[in-house]
Amino acid sequence: MRIFLILLLFLQSTTYTHDELMGKIDPATHPDFIEISKEHASREGMFLRTEAYEAFCEMYTAASEAGHHLQIISATRSFAHQKRIWDGKWERTKYMGWPDGEKAVDIMLYSSMPGTSRHHWGTDMDLNALENSYFESGKGLALYTWLQQHADEYGYRQVYTSKENGRTGYEEEKWHWSYMPLATPMLEQYLREITYDDLNGFQGAGTSEELEVITKFVRGIE
Ligand SMILES: [Zn+2]
Repeated sequence: MRIFLILLLFLQSTTYTHDELMGKIDPATHPDFIEISKEHASREGMFLRTEAYEAFCEMYTAASEAGHHLQIISATRSFAHQKRIWDGKWERTKYMGWPDGEKAVDIMLYSSMPGTSRHHWGTDMDLNALENSYFESGKGLALYTWLQQHADEYGYRQVYTSKENGRTGYEEEKWHWSYMPLATPMLEQYLREITYDDLNGFQGAGTSEELEVITKFVRGIE
């Protein structure tokens, strides 16, 4: 009985619901999430998993002591939020007459299909500016260099790196950082349990399998 309980606790602590993996949750009411302090963010009302946020706070302090200012500009995004972004882009006039597959490929240059974003997990964040150029000169470069040297000490990693070495999926995003101690097991579970049949309820959902969104994009990280 005791072993069974220990096993149950172990399973509970290392598995997520499909709703959690696909962002079909409200981080404001989920017990594993916490609101990000305004001190660390560009606006109020953003959330992360508590463990990821605590690690971020330590990284923020260390970065501050080294003269850098980290600012979270996007954190957890729900399926519903991602669907609004996705469907909004889908309806753009520039896509009039485009085949669905080509539309989806173009949108996925920088936006995830609903149900496939790491932002659903509460482990990932965008920092400071949504442009690689910000991180390539001046204080942005100094901050980026610091992150490359130290983020790993706090569990954080840039997952959308240069594609020169054959990484598939999204283009490089120097602003997107992921808390790997939680995101790695979440990705493993996602790849085991989420299928193309689970990806529905948004415009062009039928393209996900032909575009191999799970194998090329969700799995396409450094
Ligand atoms: Zn991001």
